[in-house]
Amino acid sequence: MESDSGSTSTLRAWAGIDLNALRANVEALRARAPRAALMAVVKADAYGHGAVPCARAALEAGATWLGTATPDEALALRAAGITAPTLCWLWTPGGPWSEAIEADVDVSVSGMWALRAVTEAARAAKRTARVHLKADTGLGRNGAQPADWPELTAAARAAEREGLIRVTGIWSHLACADEPGHPSNAAQLTAYRDSLATAEAAGLRPEVRHIANSPATLTIPEAHYDLVRTGIAMYGISPVPQVGGPADFGLRPVMTLGARLALVKTAPGGHGVSYGHHYVTPGETTLALVPLGYADGIPRHASNTGPVLVAGKWRTVAGRVAMDQFVVDLGGDAAKVGDEALLFGPGDQGEPTAEDWARAAGTIAYEIVTRIGPRVPRVYVG
Ligand SMILES: *Cc1c(COP(=O)(O)O)cnc(C)c1O
Repeated sequence: MESDSGSTSTLRAWAGIDLNALRANVEALRARAPRAALMAVVKADAYGHGAVPCARAALEAGATWLGTATPDEALALRAAGITAPTLCWLWTPGGPWSEAIEADVDVSVSGMWALRAVTEAARAAKRTARVHLKADTGLGRNGAQPADWPELTAAARAAEREGLIRVTGIWSHLACADEPGHPSNAAQLTAYRDSLATAEAAGLRPEVRHIANSPATLTIPEAHYDLVRTGIAMYGISPVPQVGGPADFGLRPVMTLGARLALVKTAPGGHGVSYGHHYVTPGETTLALVPLGYADGIPRHASNTGPVLVAGKWRTVAGRVAMDQFVVDLGGDAAKVGDEALLFGPGDQGEPTAEDWARAAGTIAYEIVTRIGPRVPRVYVG
């Protein structure tokens, strides 16, 4: 569900999405990597922010590529009329290879099975597929191992000669970019240079070489190459909170999560609150009901720890987060039904940030924003 007005007065809860902040973040990131093109990573519904509006805003601000995990995410951008170069990288057998080729979506290939799938689909479609070959330079996740790389690059070059594919990219992904100075960063860059040299020796001449995600864009300039793939930083969240917050990198959080109190009541001391009674009122107090729960993406791990701005002060989730709701103890302060509860945002109104929620729930801010589910309407500003 989308709402295009800034009004939240009749909503149970909302995720405000500040597209002006997103555009400014893209500009700040481009300034950090001035010689590289910028790929706006809009996988997972743009980390919960809404893929199509965020993709459009990022392109307006100078991004020239879009990146998604699944092919369906890339095809959804095409269905919305977005024609910018788009790479998708998480393929499985039986995936929509033909649809991707027909839609001019760049596909990632990490192994011989995928190269066979894409060349067969290209032959059937009588079109040249655009392929980025992915090297595992040390992450140990997707990508071809160094031992398998010579065979993959040679086979890709042979498919190029047949006109079935064009190798548009040679790429990789870093394991520890969020830990500047970690020895694996330098080791991966060395391995990446070797992968590029092998590809070149095989006769491949990619348009773009790319390995940097948000933390590498901000902290490892030698990783920028031709293209940086930024996700979390574009949404205004620091990928290296131990190094600096968003403002230290010229970034501003894009999402603000709010809700309207569904009930405010006085309860006596010694009253258990929510399932399991893991919170008990220390004395007579005011309890406020926030109509958001783990079905909306509020982590249950934030039970008794998550911070919320209500009636001018930070409160803490009282007891367990339930599927649809949780309670905060206002400690006797006044509030009324319909008052705003702000879970996180840029912090301008004194509200907590997604990073505060990440600390409370023992996770990273990526997960906090990405989990916010479809039951929460996105309200776009800008
Ligand atoms: C998600 C992802 C990115 C973006 O990472 P951020 O840290 O959010 O910038 C880049 N590349 C790949 C392969 C990814 O999966």
